[in-house]
Amino acid sequence: MLIVAGLGVLGTTCLLGYYATNTEYQPPQPLEVTKTQEDDEQVAQPTEEEVSQPPEEDIAQPTEEELSQPPDEEIVQPLQEEVAQPPQEVVQQVEEEAPITDIPTKTEESEQPVTSIVPVTDESSTKTRKYPEEATYVIIGAGTAAHAACRAIRKNDQNAKILVIGEEKALPYMRPPLSKELWFSEDENVGETLVFKSWNGKERSVFFEKEEYYTKTEDFSGSDKGIAVITGEKVSSVNAEGHEVTLASGESIKYGKLLIATGGKPKEHAAFTDDEVKSHTTLFRNIADFQSLNDAVRNAQHVAVIGGGFLGSELACALAVQGKKRGMKVTQIYPEEGNMAKVLPKYLSDWTTKKVTKEGVEIVSKGAVENATFENNQVKLKLDNGEETLADHVVVCVGLQPNIELAQSAGLEIDTQEGGFRVNSELEARSDIWVAGDAACFYDINLGRRRVEHHDHAVVSGRLAGENMTGAKKSYKHQSMFWSDLGPDVGYEAIGICDSSLPTVGIWAKATESDTPKAAEEASGESIRSDSESENVADESTEKAVEQEAAEKTTTKVESDEESFGKGVVFYMREKKVVGILLWNIFSQMPVARKIVTEGKDHEDLNALAKLFKIH
Ligand SMILES: Cc1cc2nc3c(=O)[nH]c(=O)nc-3n(C[C@H](O)[C@H](O)[C@H](O)COP(=O)(O)OP(=O)(O)OC[C@H]3O[C@@H](n4cnc5c(N)ncnc54)[C@H](O)[C@@H]3O)c2cc1C
Repeated sequence: MLIVAGLGVLGTTCLLGYYATNTEYQPPQPLEVTKTQEDDEQVAQPTEEEVSQPPEEDIAQPTEEELSQPPDEEIVQPLQEEVAQPPQEVVQQVEEEAPITDIPTKTEESEQPVTSIVPVTDESSTKTRKYPEEATYVIIGAGTAAHAACRAIRKNDQNAKILVIGEEKALPYMRPPLSKELWFSEDENVGETLVFKSWNGKERSVFFEKEEYYTKTEDFSGSDKGIAVITGEKVSSVNAEGHEVTLASGESIKYGKLLIATGGKPKEHAAFTDDEVKSHTTLFRNIADFQSLNDAVRNAQHVAVIGGGFLGSELACALAVQGKKRGMKVTQIYPEEGNMAKVLPKYLSDWTTKKVTKEGVEIVSKGAVENATFENNQVKLKLDNGEETLADHVVVCVGLQPNIELAQSAGLEIDTQEGGFRVNSELEARSDIWVAGDAACFYDINLGRRRVEHHDHAVVSGRLAGENMTGAKKSYKHQSMFWSDLGPDVGYEAIGICDSSLPTVGIWAKATESDTPKAAEEASGESIRSDSESENVADESTEKAVEQEAAEKTTTKVESDEESFGKGVVFYMREKKVVGILLWNIFSQMPVARKIVTEGKDHEDLNALAKLFKIH
């Protein structure tokens, strides 16, 4: 049921709507017109105590664990005895105090003792080794969490030797542009260059670091410190007692501390069993998938995207832009009623569905694919609502399955509900083994056991695991955010538990031209939303201004309409607690949202809370 209780007009131009769903939670009736003494108190209370307290300390000086993750300087130097103690046979690189050094440059590397591939006899055979025998820190998976962990380990342990082992052929890279900006590139060779223009026009590569950032694997054993990445190699087992991982190609590598950051793989669709169908289908996750889909759509007349979540919706919009250029039809098919229906409250999901349609995507909702066959060189999709469609190529985006194959050999527990490796709040699975990113089912002290599949979570949890691998013993307290853009004009940022089955309360206003992902990037200069966030955390004046604004404004009641979903804030409620916040076309306000979710207090007056987000 949808309750619409109009809330306010600020000045004469802004429409403000107040939307509550799932009526177990009944928000207090909105205030009307007159501002009373009581209103002032209600407005002022959350401002002072809940969100901005005191800006100088909380925001500029993030408290130990909550906000202290990103900036380099904040990370405490590990005590000697806290630093990773590798097993006897692993070279101990961490005890000497070394001057702080930056990322290794070519010059630094050339000063390291040069070792070509040193032939080492493998204990189990007489074969020459291809890879280092041991490393103080080993990371399985060369993705986002791995990269964040490397940086955190280096900050805490300047002499760290970190060996990253990744199954993909690529060095660590970020995935979000694969379903967004890369598709808007004018460069025909974008599949090779992997350089994209952010919505703000700035050019950027998907790779986190240039090649020279890393130590070559053949130089790793002879170097005093460094990060090396073994690419194109899968770790097939972990011997936790023996502190050793074994690669699918046969070699074993000893570790002192181990991070498992294996991410996940796209779920397969049960109807896609035929080989020909499979060869015309993309399960979208990595660079190779982007490249093959980019090639496939060049000759396609009709592409079908299966799945209504954020990945399916982003890709459908991105492909529709391609479709407009070359006369290709794009259909998005999903069983839910509207786009992103599992995250967005119904009215917002309905609005989004219309928006995606306007972008040129034909939507088939309430339809699950029952059967996929290959006929006349096309994939024929039969839906459970009786509809049929023929497509030249299909993209399946029906969820993620965490990569947990290593659990058995490593003796690690899998969470039966959430999937993923079960870890404690310090992301530790068992002695000397941590898990981060999409593959971790962690204990969040504020919100309970969770598994999160988002970029910023991979960064936050990778960083936390890296710090703890060097002895920091910190718990997961910094709530990560996530975001999604439907092209340059509409985007959202969210934090906490944003599940549309929870009761929600939304407060809405009309958007202006500056309320778009494009404008937000132009203002922040960053293309990955969470990259710019740390700057905002330190921006105390932003919060002060929010406080003032919240204290000064009054509200009156108006009816809300479709137009008013231009920008707004949606609170996801458990009883009176806000457990999730979604900011729709409102940017740079994530620190405020984080504070509210982290504090976990009861809130009676959500109008007052909404004012903290500068929606006007
Ligand atoms: C196309 C796309 C767009 C996205 N957009 C957004 C977005 O807009 N906003 C957002 O918040 N999130 C987004 N995400 C999600 C985000 O990218 C992921 O949450 C994040 O990449 C997870 O990081 P990770 O390090 O846990 O795993 P990954 O980045 O997946 O890295 C794991 C790596 O481990 C490797 N691996 C697995 N098993 C082994 C093994 N046994 N041995 C060696 N290597 C192994 C894998 O091959 C992979 O390379 C997007 C994801 C995709 C695919």
